[in-house]
Amino acid sequence: MSEQVFDIFIVGGGINGCGIARDAAGRGYSVCLAEMNDLASGTSSASTKLIHGGLRYLEHYEFRLVREALQEREVLWAMAPHIIWPLRFILPHHNGLRPAWLLRLGLFLYDHIGGRKRLPATTVRDLREDPIGTVLKPGNAKAFEYSDCWVDDARLVVLTARDAADRGAEIHTRTRLRSAHRNGNHWDITTEDQAGITQTVRARMLVNAAGPWVSDVLSGQIGGNENHDVRLVKGSHIVVRKLYDDPRCFFFQNADGRIFFSIPYQGEFTLIGTTDQDFDGDPASVSISEDEIAYLLDASNQYFKDTIRRDDIVWTYSGVRPLYDDGATKAQEATRDYVLKHTGGKDSPALLNVFGGKLTTYRRLAESALKHVESALGRRQPEWTANSTLPGGAFPVDGFEAEVASLQTQYSFLTPQTAHRLVRAYGKLAHTILGAASSVEDMGPDFGFGLTGAEVHYLVEHEWARCAEDILWRRSKLGLHGDEINVVALDAYVQQAVGALS
Ligand code: FAD
Repeated sequence: MSEQVFDIFIVGGGINGCGIARDAAGRGYSVCLAEMNDLASGTSSASTKLIHGGLRYLEHYEFRLVREALQEREVLWAMAPHIIWPLRFILPHHNGLRPAWLLRLGLFLYDHIGGRKRLPATTVRDLREDPIGTVLKPGNAKAFEYSDCWVDDARLVVLTARDAADRGAEIHTRTRLRSAHRNGNHWDITTEDQAGITQTVRARMLVNAAGPWVSDVLSGQIGGNENHDVRLVKGSHIVVRKLYDDPRCFFFQNADGRIFFSIPYQGEFTLIGTTDQDFDGDPASVSISEDEIAYLLDASNQYFKDTIRRDDIVWTYSGVRPLYDDGATKAQEATRDYVLKHTGGKDSPALLNVFGGKLTTYRRLAESALKHVESALGRRQPEWTANSTLPGGAFPVDGFEAEVASLQTQYSFLTPQTAHRLVRAYGKLAHTILGAASSVEDMGPDFGFGLTGAEVHYLVEHEWARCAEDILWRRSKLGLHGDEINVVALDAYVQQAVGALS
């Protein structure tokens, strides 16, 4: 870490910490970010992976949040058309649950309050005629079809961090905040890396974006006695082999009033989730419970014609939502909006705590955070992220197939599957990874499923990958094809590449 006095020190390399780092670095503030594990290793890789307005939040009158989130769909899609793309959702109307007029009203608002320009509007479907109806039990006759977007959540975090670093931010992974104390007009901050080496740096402002650890950081490392307004709510997903061929998703209503999604995932799978359960354990060891598995299977089997069994599950994951505690009775009703709490700034160095938020609203959250930064440190540059692109994303929103074709023309040795995967992950930067290669042999060792030494080197050098797990489960989801990947050889290769860095 540099010896300079940073303007801002950020704790947490999830979407919110990285989003604030990027925005602040782009406005000329000096930024240092510490993430105790891998980037996106907390909640930000365990989401449903939707850039969405959140249709169900309308029921809780969260109009501000829904409007802002709806507006962000097309902004973020344009920023990163490789990792974000439109999806259509089928919402079957179910007698005995929400009446059709209520769904129609909600979707009317959804279509109209968020400045939708490119995403197609809601339509009505007859599931007795639409081919997607054949995967559902008879009795599901009428449905609405509406738009939202998909995002590769972990890559959104990493690309945001990459862009922050390209704009001058220092990003330190595997680096834990140990303590932070106010000292005159700055913070004295001590960090510890995985080798146990501690360092002390100084910063004029501290941002606590530790997600589900926000209270732990406040009461433990910062030693503050501010009110800890966080409600931890666990959510889990199951992944099964592909249930149907149609690219559309389902938005299902469950009998308990909750909703859940079924989404085509990584070509060969279907993602089903999520749950909402209050959580009071260690967020680092969150995992799905048998009750949640039974809940998701039961709920899905109310709708799908072919029964999904426990044995069909190929992977599960869980995350903890760090929600702002608004006193809601049920976990699913707690607000998904973000709240920023700022102390100090005049006579003492400023502290900003981040509560709640969605992936979808991370850019807007960062803009709000920068207002606090400006009030504490003075204004530098104006807002800039709305019309920016993330690394690799400088192509039109409808230009994905052209990018794949261009990559395959230049690198004819790539299989269509690998070319597609590389453009989805890296966009235009796929060309940087492939460089002057003219055959697959030029790409170095092949670890399976198109993952080669050249890509691993890129991930270590440019995306902070430090072990096979970072690559298989966050920089990509190649872990789902674990049988086809030589994980031992990959890990050894990563360690060698990391060693060569120092
Ligand atoms: P995190 O991603 O958890 O980041 C905090 C980071 O701080 C962690 O990486 C942690 O390691 C680090 N940290 C903690 N303590 C320290 C320390 N002492 N030193 C250094 N680092 C530290 N949002 C959407 O928009 N769309 C969705 O579809 C969606 N689905 C969701 C589904 C589920 C089940 C869940 C749980 C959330 C979902 N969300 C969704 C919400 C979204 O994922 C979260 O709001 C967001 O990821 C929170 O990001 P964060 O940066 O605040 O927290």
